[in-house]
Amino acid sequence: MRREGSAIGGFVPFSSLDWPGQLAAVVFIKGCPWRCDYCHNPHLQSRKTIPVVHIESQNAQGSLDWDRILEFLDARKTLLDGVVFTGGEPFTEPNLEEMIGQVLHKGFKVAVHTAGMYPSKLERSLESLSWVGLDIKTKAENYDSLTHRSGSAEPVRKTLEKLLKSDVSFECRTTWSPQWLSESDLIDLAQDLSAQGVRKYAIQRFRSLAHRSVGHELSEQSLRILDSLFEQFTYR
Ligand code: SF4
Repeated sequence: MRREGSAIGGFVPFSSLDWPGQLAAVVFIKGCPWRCDYCHNPHLQSRKTIPVVHIESQNAQGSLDWDRILEFLDARKTLLDGVVFTGGEPFTEPNLEEMIGQVLHKGFKVAVHTAGMYPSKLERSLESLSWVGLDIKTKAENYDSLTHRSGSAEPVRKTLEKLLKSDVSFECRTTWSPQWLSESDLIDLAQDLSAQGVRKYAIQRFRSLAHRSVGHELSEQSLRILDSLFEQFTYR
């Protein structure tokens, strides 16, 4: 495996938040072609930056290396349900398929978080995945102004289409602030997702990194509408 090409920007050994209902280790992949205004991991946008998140465990400190992560997983086989690849954008990693295969070989399940810009790569990995968290950032016509990249909505549409046709469990999620999506546009977006067949949807409150605060809350009326549209709706 070309491990030297793997751009790992962080590792969290235990998380109950990144894969609903599962205790998972989380691998952060460096690299993302988009430049969203609200990105919480701008240090992971470039594949060349030095890792700033290190292995967080009492016994493991230091640089991030895929072999060390595999060793860590070997020692946690009975404690963890699976491994989540996130980022950045995990599908920027050319070795991702091999990395997923190695994790599966150790007996763990695998999930990914993706912004949906690589539908073909996701499709090739689908049979290896147990869960996908897909960002739906905003309405299609507003995507480019949020991501600062042209044509950014179309690959997300294709990614969602592939997920809907697959048997893989997935959640769509939107990080929301009225700064880029009004409450009524958010309802329109959710109604469109529901009509397409999305069954699990989460809205993540935008938290300002600068102020460490939640900026806006959805109204009770909007939350009732959103809850009625999906089998599983989460506001977090
Ligand atoms: S797609 Fe995700 S990682 Fe990439 S810039 Fe946007 S928020 Fe950041």
